[in-house]
Amino acid sequence: MPGVSLTWLGHSAFRVDSPGGKRIYLDPWLTNPRCPENERTPERIDILALTHGHADHLGETVELGRRYLPRVVAIFELAYWLAAKGIPGASALAMNKGGTVDVDGIRFSMTDAVHSGGLVEEDDRIVYLGDAAGYVIEFENDTTIYFAGDTAAFGDMQILGRAFDLDAAVLPIGDHFTMGPRQAAIALEFLGVSRCVPCHYATFPLHTGRPDELRRHAPDVEILAPEPGETIEL
Ligand SMILES: [Zn+2]
Repeated sequence: MPGVSLTWLGHSAFRVDSPGGKRIYLDPWLTNPRCPENERTPERIDILALTHGHADHLGETVELGRRYLPRVVAIFELAYWLAAKGIPGASALAMNKGGTVDVDGIRFSMTDAVHSGGLVEEDDRIVYLGDAAGYVIEFENDTTIYFAGDTAAFGDMQILGRAFDLDAAVLPIGDHFTMGPRQAAIALEFLGVSRCVPCHYATFPLHTGRPDELRRHAPDVEILAPEPGETIEL
């Protein structure tokens, strides 16, 4: 069985090809300024997972969901909102923190995240789309990856470190809206993980955190920092 192929699409967007051949998109904001042109139109989407409803994570989910009819993994309120927006079956797996859903042999456990979760509409009204969350994803070959979503570092990451044998953690490091490298280093310690893929940095000038800074704060962790469009095997 092949490994887990992780392709960074800029910001917090990832395409993941699972060992069993499933194609997963996480937080598919495919019009972000660093998403490569040739990644903006997916071939297929088997599973679409969202950490929260902010526009830089929701991205083109409504259009993608209607077009590719993926299984949708999202927190309760967001899942129902997506169903109301016309994605068939989007609420079928509506879940919440601490819970696990099995989607075609891939297990998604929803975690806490210290962040907010409202969507600012075009008329500046804010729609509550549930809490911000993260996921621990256990793939068909038992490779286990934590996608933190947008969050500060928080003490309960230690629970994840005890509950799961994590092979890698995907953490935001850009600062301003999420933790920066200094807190991310503490998060890695709490998670007990030896490999990290940083994201949510360098999208715009205010996302100031950088992988090299994380390397300085977490010298014992392997920091894998693919370029946008680059695929790494985990
Ligand atoms: Zn964000």
